[in-house]
Amino acid sequence: MSHDAQDLSRRDMMRIGATGAAAAGLAGLPAAADDKAEPARLPVRRYGRTGLEIGWLTGASDWTKEIIPRAVAAGVNYWHKAQAWNANTLPPAIKRQPRESYYLECVVDRVGGDHSHGRIDEEEHYQFVKRRLKDAGVGYYDVYKFHFGYHSVEDAKQNTGMVRAFERLKKEGLVKYLAISQHHYNAIGGDMAWEILAYLADNRPYDATQFFYTYGDRKEVGEWIDLAKKKDIATVAMKTMGGVGRAAQDGKFQKLLADPKYQGTTPAAAMVKWLRSNQNLTAAMIATKNFDQFEENVGAAVAVALEPRDRAMLALLADYNKGLTCLLCAQCVASCPEHIAISDIFRYDRYAHDYHELGRARGEYSTLARNATSCVGCGDCLPACPQEIDIAAKLKEVHNLLG
Ligand code: SF4
Ligand code: SF4
Repeated sequence: MSHDAQDLSRRDMMRIGATGAAAAGLAGLPAAADDKAEPARLPVRRYGRTGLEIGWLTGASDWTKEIIPRAVAAGVNYWHKAQAWNANTLPPAIKRQPRESYYLECVVDRVGGDHSHGRIDEEEHYQFVKRRLKDAGVGYYDVYKFHFGYHSVEDAKQNTGMVRAFERLKKEGLVKYLAISQHHYNAIGGDMAWEILAYLADNRPYDATQFFYTYGDRKEVGEWIDLAKKKDIATVAMKTMGGVGRAAQDGKFQKLLADPKYQGTTPAAAMVKWLRSNQNLTAAMIATKNFDQFEENVGAAVAVALEPRDRAMLALLADYNKGLTCLLCAQCVASCPEHIAISDIFRYDRYAHDYHELGRARGEYSTLARNATSCVGCGDCLPACPQEIDIAAKLKEVHNLLG
């Protein structure tokens, strides 16, 4: 048994026996039956041209202490937002591994604002990474990631400070690979993520990309994944669990699951299997709040294939999401005469409902220059919404929750 498996308490291993068995059972797998069983290992995929072999689920520095040893044992070796750890808080389960066996990502934000207002500043980004490295004592970060990304193709053409800071740090051996987490920016007159990523693929040295992707998303996202594969650029899906957390707390939805055709799967397991079925997608980043959620995700990620019951579950979830859950496609934004960042507001709503992070959702909402109260109810946005959401009504509802 590995160090990490030993790291798990007996209680945790017993829970793998119970919840892991449940999760593996959901995925149609042989399950760990007792506390001597090795936990399931995640599939591994190549992180694009970097050549790194990463576990199909990426980990994150905001995961709880309970999850991390289990995640390491399951093969999570890529850690998002690792700059949040210092030498004292880097989890022992990670630290005791050989340094070259796990990959730490340093996320770099714009300076002096937020994702839509801050500026790109080569020197500040360079110094930020150096400071974080000094605190963390890890020697180097494997991945330097531009958080939130460029506002437009033009922004990417003109503002090369992120890339220059990376190149300086790389020369000094302090970072190895360049990545980007790209949002849509049509709300502020910019471009959609896939437009910006397609430009970067041909013109900037980004090795890896991260973007919104969930079941029912726009076809352009799938096309970007295919293009990135051809160019050997890694792709990581985020905001993947559209509607799953909300459905889990909805009694009416839960009653529907009694139908035998859904037996043996769950909305989360079906979503994970669907994501994994895309061979061109490198990995998925899934917000994970507790041990049981992690077990469910791993159980589904190691499953062989999407089954009819998973497809039925995805159809049920898509139906449930209609009129209710925003998929963050941002198609509505350009038609709003009040320039309301509709998809950002609904993203915060998903933090509250899908991830049950009400504090974070309220915090993000409070930073908006124009919030949901700017909506005049004109309805211009409605035809654009593939989810058939009554956007004006939902904005009011979200404001009542987050305002
Ligand atoms: S209904 Fe509200 S959100 Fe929709 S276009 Fe009009 S002002 Fe914008
Ligand atoms: S409200 Fe509709 S159109 Fe707007 S981002 Fe959400 S799903 Fe897309």
